[in-house]
Amino acid sequence: MRPFKKILIANRGEIALRILRACQAMDIRTVAVHSTVDRNLKHVGMADESVCIGPAAAAQSYLNIPGIIAAMEVTDAEAVHPGYGFLAENADFAERVEESGFTFIGPRAETIRLMGDKVSAINAMRQAGVPCVPGSNGPLNDDPARTRRLADEIGFPVLVKAAAGGGGRGMRVVDKAEDLTRAVTLTRQEAQAAFGDATVYMEKFLTNPRHVEIQVLADQHGNVVHLGERDCSMQRRHQKVIEEAPAPGISEAQREKIGKICVDACRRIGYLGAGTFEFLFENDEFYFIEMNTRIQVEHPVTECVTGLDLIRAQIMAAAGLPLPFAQDDVRIHGHAIECRINAEDPESFMPRPGTVEAFHAPGGPGIRVDSHVYDGYQVPPNYDSMIGKLIAHGEDRETAMARMRVALDEMVLRGLVTNIPVHQRLLRDSGFIQGGTNIHYLEKLLKGMG
Ligand code: ADP
Repeated sequence: MRPFKKILIANRGEIALRILRACQAMDIRTVAVHSTVDRNLKHVGMADESVCIGPAAAAQSYLNIPGIIAAMEVTDAEAVHPGYGFLAENADFAERVEESGFTFIGPRAETIRLMGDKVSAINAMRQAGVPCVPGSNGPLNDDPARTRRLADEIGFPVLVKAAAGGGGRGMRVVDKAEDLTRAVTLTRQEAQAAFGDATVYMEKFLTNPRHVEIQVLADQHGNVVHLGERDCSMQRRHQKVIEEAPAPGISEAQREKIGKICVDACRRIGYLGAGTFEFLFENDEFYFIEMNTRIQVEHPVTECVTGLDLIRAQIMAAAGLPLPFAQDDVRIHGHAIECRINAEDPESFMPRPGTVEAFHAPGGPGIRVDSHVYDGYQVPPNYDSMIGKLIAHGEDRETAMARMRVALDEMVLRGLVTNIPVHQRLLRDSGFIQGGTNIHYLEKLLKGMG
């Protein structure tokens, strides 16, 4: 059965292309929406219909809710897939879509709202029995003495975080009591400016954790499964650079235990669709930090090791179809690694938009390239610098790494400056090769090299 006749893709770049491919494979017609600088995006050319929704500035195009709903109306689309970023975790958008009589491919608006505020998310998760980072258990108020008491109870160093934060922004480490009041004030100001919400909270700053996250899938009939974990500890400025599945050193028993906790929490909050529980993992313990209520950049590593199509699963769940498999049917096969390819300076990491003179994608067994670039494509300066993802899958971690090395060396993106040299170095780094490095590893390594 075809769940929808026509889906509008409210995103751009590689994820828009990924969604389009899933729709085409399901015989669903597609509508691409794009800004004026994105007329030449690959998926725009491949979609059945396309609508220009505004100028380059995302606020007037990819974040333009009335424009996107109008595009759904004129094209008769039944559902909208938001991808990641832009409107993917905007509860107002999900609500407006549903109120207009369309289907939002994602969880219910109330779930997005609950999880979008990290303070309410942590409270809900704690109530659902999910282990959380020791913290302030609620927002900080304007009483410095109370904040100080909380910090002393938690123990320094602490992390002051914006409740509405995202993209690695809006957090500040505080090592000692003298710095606390100023750090809270600054984080509040930044949070107000960046997210329009000055609410901040406090958490224990874990000194050597890994970032390990659990992928879940839920339908509208109470069926929930987890698809194992991903390790996303290779980070720079709290942003993921390389991800892999499974996480090195996590045992089957640990996976089952934390996976079941996430599944139970999903049932409790009435979760729908694909979602990710993000944890810090230290001394063999998991600590919840946030939930992402959308498809994630790193979803392909989970697809490789489970053999599932997560975008297809999202679409089926949104259409009200029951999950076609149970937890016992989910098997993890081999190991997969993803490198995010960015148009950026490999030393300063500054975005370097430009024109692709020649693109040659690597191939061979276990290699997947998710990218919208092609010969002559111009990377606009207006959006994220990620231009694609290179994914390697093999029967074990060694094989996946070996295939990734060959693929990175084979990839040609002439005309662009990219971070491929960083990945080439990392894939030959003894710490990465050993596996299980913590979230500070990459920054320390880069400092040593610089
Ligand atoms: P965002 O929504 O901006 O991605 P997260 O809460 O997911 O923010 O945190 C992003 C990253 O910041 C984590 O992967 C980790 O590297 C770091 N981080 C977050 N909370 C803590 C903490 N309590 N202790 C140490 N590092 C943390």
